[in-house]
This record gives sequence, structure tokens and C-alpha cells, in this order.
Amino acid sequence: MTATRIDGKAFAARLRTEIGAHVGSLKADHGITPGLAVVLVGEDPASQVYVRSKGKQTVEVGMKSFEHKLPADTSEEALLTLVGQLNADPAVNGILVQLPLPGHIDSDLVINAIDPAKDVDGFHISNVGLLGTGQKAMVPCTPLGCLMMLRDHHGSLSGLNAVVVGRSNIVGKPMAQLLLNDSCTVTIAHSRTRDIEDVTRRADIVVAAVGRPEMVTGDWIKPGATVIDVGINRIDDGLKEDETPKTRLVGDCHFDSCAEVAGAITPVPGGVGPMTIACLLANTLTATTRANGLPEPVGLTP
Ligand code: NDP
Repeated sequence: MTATRIDGKAFAARLRTEIGAHVGSLKADHGITPGLAVVLVGEDPASQVYVRSKGKQTVEVGMKSFEHKLPADTSEEALLTLVGQLNADPAVNGILVQLPLPGHIDSDLVINAIDPAKDVDGFHISNVGLLGTGQKAMVPCTPLGCLMMLRDHHGSLSGLNAVVVGRSNIVGKPMAQLLLNDSCTVTIAHSRTRDIEDVTRRADIVVAAVGRPEMVTGDWIKPGATVIDVGINRIDDGLKEDETPKTRLVGDCHFDSCAEVAGAITPVPGGVGPMTIACLLANTLTATTRANGLPEPVGLTP
């Protein structure tokens, strides 16, 4: 391996320490404790793990965590009523509705019912518009974490060629927007892109958010480029000693071959993943300071 390994786990730990210190000052100086409400509908196992982890880290930085676990057959109306109550609750500064929601609920309707000022996932249409026009927005956590690592590694991103592979509303599009706002020349690649390897080989920065295990290989990467791997894919990995199946997590990039060519790369696990939850806490802190007319901590927003 020749590439520098960008350690998202360590970066996220530093960020949480910094957030914890700000939360301590908010309490001591203003008597304010930020509160994050997480709503989970149904029993999706991956979502349950994320929600547990979010709740634990919220409490660790000194914030209040409000968890609302609802059965899978919860009606859209009941969920909208809960969102309305959380919007009106002054103890709640951030609201996150864990996606995906069961099929009978319109996710867009629910997300857009959240008060944009408490929309710590940054998915509300108002926040999408604010980000798109370069105004003060709540920014989606995963792309925000990627941006923080890129800025930390490169300093200025101005003028760099960036290719984002994936055009989802939660990762690809906001990532491209953030890179554009930082004056990168941005290309978004997707499943219909022709000769995608030629597109990524021109990039100084490749962000892969595809959901296809190890799709991006070293021959897609320009020597010295920075590779940010957003993908989280669980793949089969043979059998354990007791003959039961073994699995492991891999990204959308083939780590070893990319690391031979890249200048820097994030691993999976331990790269983008830990930064996502840290940025959720950062957004909750930002929402709290904005709601109370206090100065925003520096470095936690784009
Ligand atoms: P989506 O499925 O919503 O989007 C995937 C995107 O990849 C689509 O735009 C799709 O293109 C594109 N794509 C699919 N196949 C190809 C291909 N063969 N070549 C080029 N592009 C392709 O996924 P998400 O954006 O939600 O997530 C992407 C990955 O990131 C997943 O592995 C997910 O688990 C992970 N993730 C990780 C997070 C973290 O905290 N680290 C947070 C969120 C997601 P098209 O639009 O044309 O179909």
C-alpha cells in the first residue's frame, strides 16, 4: 500500500470530543442541553443498530437522546402527528426519522413535515434548496463527513477535479453540491455513465457512493488521487471454524488495488461510517445554537 490511510474513526473521535466541549459550555453558560430525537418505524435490523449507536453517542457527548420506536404497521398519520409534536417540543433541537420507512408511508411527506431548522439529516426540501443555492443549510451528515476529511487532507479543494460515483439524494447529489461549493470541477457518474473508468481516472478526488461491493478498482484511479469510499456492503467471507457462514464489511472500492495507486484513501470500516454519526451530532449542536441565537461553533458546518 502506498496511499495514506485517512482514519475516519480517529477523526470522528476528535470531532465528538470537540462537540462534547461545546455542549459543556452551552450547559454551563446558558443552561441549554441539546436534544436529538430519533424515530424508528419497524424492526429493520440494520436500522436498529444505527439507532442504538446514534443514541449512545448522543448521550456520550452530553446531549439528550429521545428514542421513539414505533411498530411497522404505524400509520402515516400517526407518524406525522409524532413529527408535529417533536417540531413543537423546545427540548428537541434535532429530529431524525430513520430511513427506509415501511412501504405504506410516503417518506418525502414525512421528511418534509420536519421543521427544516430541526432537520439534522438535511433531507428537507428547504435544506436541499438552501445548500443548492449556497445558503446556510442543514447539510446531510455523510457528505458533510466526507467534506471534512477532504478539507483536512487537502486544505483547499479549489480547482480540483472531483468525480462522485452515485447520484442519490442522500449521498451523491449533496456531495457533488458541497464539492462544487468548494470550487471543485465536479462530475457525477451513475449507472448510465459510459466508460466510467475513463471518467474516474481524470479525477483528483473520487467519492464512491454506489452500493456495489469493491466495484471501483485501482485501474479506475489516477495516481495520487484521493479516494473516499462511502459504500457499506456486507459480503460472504467463507465459513467459521464451526462451519457457520462468515461475513465481512467492504466498501464500494477495492481497497488493496486502489491503495496501490491512490495518494490517500478511506478504509471500510473505519472511514466515512464513523464520521456520519459524528456529523449528526455536529448538526444537532449547530441546530441548537441557531435556535437560541448563539454563535455557531467553527468548523462544524461547510
Ligand atoms: P443508492 O442505491 O440510493 O444510490 C446508488 C447510486 O449508485 C445510484 O445513483 C446508481 O445509479 C449508482 N450506481 C449503481 N450501480 C452503478 C454502477 N454499476 N455504475 C455506476 N453507478 C452505479 O445508494 P446510497 O447513495 O444510499 O448509498 C450508496 C452506498 O453508500 C451504499 O453502500 C450505502 O450502504 C452506503 N452509505 C453509507 C453511509 C455511511 O454512513 N458510510 C451512509 C449512506 C449510505 P442510478 O441513479 O443510475 O441508478
